[in-house]
Amino acid sequence: MEAFLNEHYGLSGCTFKKLVGYISTNYRVDCSQGTYLLKVYPYSESELVQLEAEIAMIKCLDHLDRQSVSTPIPNQQGHDLTITEDKIYRLMSFVEGQFLSEASPSPALYESLGRFMGKVDQKLEGFRDIAIESRSLDWDLNNLPRIEGLIQHIASVEDQKLVRHFYLQWQVHVQPQLEKLRKCIIHNDANDWNVLTKDDRVNGIIDFGDATYTSLINELAICLAYALFDKDEPLKWAEYIVKGYHQEQPLLKQELDLLYYLVAGRLVTSLCFSSYDIKQQPDNEYIVISQRPALDLLRKWARINPIKAKAVFYKAAGFQPAKTPAIEQVKAGRHKVMSPQLSLSYQTPIHMDGAAFQYMYDAQGNTFLDAYNNIPHVGHQHPRVVEAGRRQMAQLNTNTRYLFDQLEAYASKLLAKFPAPLSKVYFVNSGSAASDLAVRLAQNYTGQHRMMVIEHGYHGNTRMGIDISHYKYTSRGGKGKAEHIVEAPLPDVYRSSYKGPNAGSKYATEAMALVEEKALAAFIAEPIVGCGGQVPLAPGYLQALYPAIRSKGGLCISDEVQTGFGRMGTHFWGFEMHGITPDIVVLGKPMGNGHPMGAVVTNDAIAEAFDNGMEFFSSFGGNPVSCAIGEAVLDVLEEENLQANAQEVGQYYQQQLEALKKDFPEIGDVRGSGLFIGMELIKDDKLTPNTELASYLKNELRKQHILVSTDGPFDSVIKTKPPLCFNKANVDEVVNQIYSILKNK
Ligand code: PMP
Repeated sequence: MEAFLNEHYGLSGCTFKKLVGYISTNYRVDCSQGTYLLKVYPYSESELVQLEAEIAMIKCLDHLDRQSVSTPIPNQQGHDLTITEDKIYRLMSFVEGQFLSEASPSPALYESLGRFMGKVDQKLEGFRDIAIESRSLDWDLNNLPRIEGLIQHIASVEDQKLVRHFYLQWQVHVQPQLEKLRKCIIHNDANDWNVLTKDDRVNGIIDFGDATYTSLINELAICLAYALFDKDEPLKWAEYIVKGYHQEQPLLKQELDLLYYLVAGRLVTSLCFSSYDIKQQPDNEYIVISQRPALDLLRKWARINPIKAKAVFYKAAGFQPAKTPAIEQVKAGRHKVMSPQLSLSYQTPIHMDGAAFQYMYDAQGNTFLDAYNNIPHVGHQHPRVVEAGRRQMAQLNTNTRYLFDQLEAYASKLLAKFPAPLSKVYFVNSGSAASDLAVRLAQNYTGQHRMMVIEHGYHGNTRMGIDISHYKYTSRGGKGKAEHIVEAPLPDVYRSSYKGPNAGSKYATEAMALVEEKALAAFIAEPIVGCGGQVPLAPGYLQALYPAIRSKGGLCISDEVQTGFGRMGTHFWGFEMHGITPDIVVLGKPMGNGHPMGAVVTNDAIAEAFDNGMEFFSSFGGNPVSCAIGEAVLDVLEEENLQANAQEVGQYYQQQLEALKKDFPEIGDVRGSGLFIGMELIKDDKLTPNTELASYLKNELRKQHILVSTDGPFDSVIKTKPPLCFNKANVDEVVNQIYSILKNK
């Protein structure tokens, strides 16, 4: 090799050190004339074409000196490449410096990184090259759809979820804009091992092998994706880079609008390829290690409201902030078309714009930790659920008067979650429609009209739903109890005069005393009464009551709209906690993760009796799209082990809230199961409800961007029932905020 360099380049006294290389074999060459980089490629026509293109590109960066970019050193014939029979040799200037990955970050360094890349792109703007323009790389962000098939190689389902989410976001936000974006040839790989730094500034870049003709903004996105590794506040660091870049290569608003999604897109690409590579080289620990910062950043990215990111990028570029309408204005607009009867949560309502998993984004750029919403059961916008819905929507959506495979597939999967006698399902579109139908089934089967309900229970908004919802018919605007309703007292052990293990059966006896000798159609209750203030039915209550109801010819209905689908942690259905099996089960809310779904599950005999000649038909109930979505929810619950998570995190949550009691006597009771928790606030030893404090706490938490609600007959119970992907760190955030709000009130 030494003789070769002497013959072709006139170099002498050379020593060689092998460097990492991908396609080429690379050497650092130290000789009496200086230090060089020698790259040796296996000969091929196509390699030659690519190398010539790369050289042309580097030459275009004529403002950068040999210290900044590895420039070709011509051989003695004046050629940039020396070609032998089977190899191509390329001697380059050696760029000294510390890799960005090893440099300590500073605002000045990051701004100079932006400026450096801006300068590179500024120079490349007019550069055209047929070889580069005609190749199409998998690492080109505009080709992101090519990596979709690799997502399955990501080892953990949680990480897959994250990656699929951002892949979807790219599809939704970036893909439709691709044709409108400025395109040019870019370096395309300004990662932290390709960028060199010296004295707190970026002084060089290496490896032009990934150069491609693509959207200009991808360059900045790639640069950000790696530079933001291991930063507590990634947006703060992003701002320096964008500012520097924009000074040299002014960006357009429409480009900055997409930057958030593009940064994530690059992380997605990197994670997909590395996950695939790990499977090919399972012993290569380096690949696994390199995934960690990318995953960390993607997790942090999911907590950043895209509107906030856009605002930071606009500010960095000196653009006026995008206008967001004032809450009052939005509210007024709504009230023009909707009755104010539709309530809004919080003293200052929230104008929502997006969500991901346990986080929600408002139109002002804030991110809320969602400790409240149980409808997005497996997490807001879960990509598996979104994908299932849109695929099926693109294929077929019709009704149950036709045969289609999705109905049976989903119904079987759902029914497999129930104990033996519960073997028939009716699909509807809401919890209300389901409870209404449940009452019809019961009344039809028994030939009776009377219903027993529990105080403060809520079961739906239909006429029948209101009739059986004490929570509604006794409160403002309610018309009181209908004649056919029997009201059982709420078997609440916290406020009970019945103490000890027999409290449940005493409540049951009390309830049955109200039935008198008259027959009943059914008894309906939730296993934990949500609107009553997350009140678990006293242990033993249902075990005593169900046989008594049945002995009167009545049926037992469990409303699992809130408590079903694993939320309880210990059990998939709330009724299972009570060791009983209902005759009819009402399902809703979490079933479709936000897609409107409800169902009634019952046994063969009740279903047969209902089949009395009158058709049962729901236009939308059980349609293929709903079935696909419902099935995806069940699959995700299983794959992500969310019931177990509800149990573990829920138990921790209750312990942490319980621990607050010693500092705050206002916390009277902490109760619930899994991730379905209530915290009752009181004023004194007489357990006087502390409605004011509950409202204060809820609204203060909202100011701190944490969502909870209040409920119960006096609105004195803090309700928390987050998406089941909620984690212990999320619990700590909520509990710490509650602590500081109560401490400083
Ligand atoms: N049952 C229970 C226990 C509920 O909490 C609700 C809704 N809050 C319903 C039924 C009615 O469901 P939907 O709002 O879907 O009609």
